Amino acid sequence: MRIGHGYDVHRLTEGRKLILGGVEIPFERGLDGHSDADVLLHAVMDSLLGAAGLRDIGVLFPDNDPRYEGISSMLLVREVMNHLEAQKLRVGNVDVTILAQRPKLKDYIPQMRDHLAQALKLPAERVNIKATTEEGLGFTGSGEGIACHAVCLLEE
Ligand code: MG
Repeated sequence: MRIGHGYDVHRLTEGRKLILGGVEIPFERGLDGHSDADVLLHAVMDSLLGAAGLRDIGVLFPDNDPRYEGISSMLLVREVMNHLEAQKLRVGNVDVTILAQRPKLKDYIPQMRDHLAQALKLPAERVNIKATTEEGLGFTGSGEGIACHAVCLLEE
């Protein structure tokens, strides 16, 4: 087995959709970025690439490449899965923590989990997503941005 960790941050800004785990969440602001800025999927992909020894999504999908402008991160997950499959690696499980003061994410977590499980070709019970506020502290607490941590296991 191989373990991987991923971490990502995106700034919250007006005039953007908020997409987390491939799910559009109603909110007055969204995450800024070159792609759809799905911070959850970015952290998950970095954990997968980390476990596989394949660097990170910044190397795989450069943010100055017009092919990735506005792209759904779900499509990038598919590409990461192709890289894992080429190395005969499959995902054992993933565990994700979203750091967000607002909006409340609890009601959207089952849908995010289903999307992510499908993308990773896993039963839902091998995918865990949780969200926490940071008690108003720091950039996540002030609502400047959303951060996400992910850990995964890969099996050979
Ligand atoms: Mg990112």
